[in-house]
Amino acid sequence: MDTSTQRLPVAVIGAGPVGLAAAAQLATRGLDFVVLEAGDRIAASIGEWAHVRLFSPWRYDTDPAARTLLEATGWAAPDPERLPTGGELVDDYLTPLAAHPAIAPHIRLNAAVVAIARQGFDKVRTAGREAAPFLIRLADGTELPASAVIDASGTWRTPNPVGGNGIPAQGEIGAYADGRVFNGMPDVTGRLRTQFAGRSVAVVGAGHSATGTLIALADLAAAEPGTTVHWVLRASTPVRAYGGGDNDALPARGAIGTRIKALVDEGIVTVHTGFLVQEVTDEGLVSADGRKLDAAVIVNATGARPDHSPAAELRLDVDPILGSTRTLAPLIDPNEHSCGTVPPHGVDQLAHPEPGFYVVGAKSYGRAPTFLLATGYEQARSVVAALAGDWTAARDVRLDLPETGVCSSDFTDDSAGSSCCGPAPATVEVGRGLATGVAGGLLSLPLVDVSATASAGGSCCG
Ligand SMILES: Cc1cc2nc3c(=O)[nH]c(=O)nc-3n(C[C@H](O)[C@H](O)[C@H](O)COP(=O)(O)OP(=O)(O)OC[C@H]3O[C@@H](n4cnc5c(N)ncnc54)[C@H](O)[C@@H]3O)c2cc1C
Repeated sequence: MDTSTQRLPVAVIGAGPVGLAAAAQLATRGLDFVVLEAGDRIAASIGEWAHVRLFSPWRYDTDPAARTLLEATGWAAPDPERLPTGGELVDDYLTPLAAHPAIAPHIRLNAAVVAIARQGFDKVRTAGREAAPFLIRLADGTELPASAVIDASGTWRTPNPVGGNGIPAQGEIGAYADGRVFNGMPDVTGRLRTQFAGRSVAVVGAGHSATGTLIALADLAAAEPGTTVHWVLRASTPVRAYGGGDNDALPARGAIGTRIKALVDEGIVTVHTGFLVQEVTDEGLVSADGRKLDAAVIVNATGARPDHSPAAELRLDVDPILGSTRTLAPLIDPNEHSCGTVPPHGVDQLAHPEPGFYVVGAKSYGRAPTFLLATGYEQARSVVAALAGDWTAARDVRLDLPETGVCSSDFTDDSAGSSCCGPAPATVEVGRGLATGVAGGLLSLPLVDVSATASAGGSCCG
């Protein structure tokens, strides 16, 4: 990159928690930057699940560089042991951070990035490519140059379909248009109560978004007669979704699995296993093996996937399964790590063949369902250190999180736990990471210790 290009700002795509953490790191290192946020407010995606309580307490939810900036303004960190809602995360941490004088002037709202290229270069042209600035096009047609790009745009806006084959089920698109399908974790007991009360509801998915919604629907059913709750799973048993229960290092997370198991045992939630959604009809859902489930409303809690299409003219090295980088994929693949760990990782695992372009945050995990804020903050720190030329700091990646040293979920379903002892990738650094969870939704297994000597499977299977 020539010196004139280096003087251009670093473009951060998305003002979610990880994009703002990158901004805090950039501000701290004195690098110019611009944060481009599609929404009309910061953290627009979290705004859509503001009613949901996180299962990580505050001490895992803030970025160290951001804390340092904020504390200098008199901001007091919330009680580290308390569990914030998404709304509190925005109001009590992200909004003050975005308002910080070192960050606020650099944020542009209503700035949806639709394309990223290298100025003067299509994907094929090589000679001189690295010296060219990035060119970023916004939805309103505005274009701006950047010295580097940190894509922290998340996956919330591109949910997986309800269809069991990964493509929309027959009739699914029409059902969305009719307003009968809701994504993620709709506020079923609050803002959207009238849409769910007294109706038959099918929740599709196996992760924490699904189980959290099922619990809220059970509360609704207790108050609103006629509300029936169905849980639609591709798996042959819900056992994996019950998680680690009392063994979970985050009690709030363990409690979700314990509660959902009780609701199933009591018959308040009816489970439909092995149900591959083939069709969404006016009456409800039809499975690939012809079963019919009456449901007036459907909640699509099947997770989300990354949208790499804005970067189609960049040279990306994307894992064919997950859509993360290929280097990161073996560390997070739910096929391999149903009971595994997430080793600390940074710029080297996030790099693409396009120098200066990085995907961080939830999007960096692609379709792997186990991303956590603390991981994204460390990614942002490492990438920004590399952009500042501080490769020692960039490569000193670590996650300092509590360990349980156990992985004692007594899953009886298929592969759970069977493949968690795979060899650690050669790039694993010494440090601590988080256990990954089951496929679909968020993680549901204990925090575990990861060290280079123990290997990624050491504390899980030892
Ligand atoms: C319901 C739920 C509960 C969760 N609970 C926890 C928890 O307890 N603990 C934990 O550690 N993690 C949790 N997570 C996981 C994860 O930490 C969050 O998803 C987190 O919000 C990810 O942060 P992010 O900055 O990567 O992406 P996001 O928060 O999704 O932010 C991305 C931002 O980019 C913007 N954007 C998107 N596309 C564009 C574009 N083209 N141009 C410009 N801007 C764009 C969006 O508007 C958004 O503001 C939870 C996730 C969900 C969905």
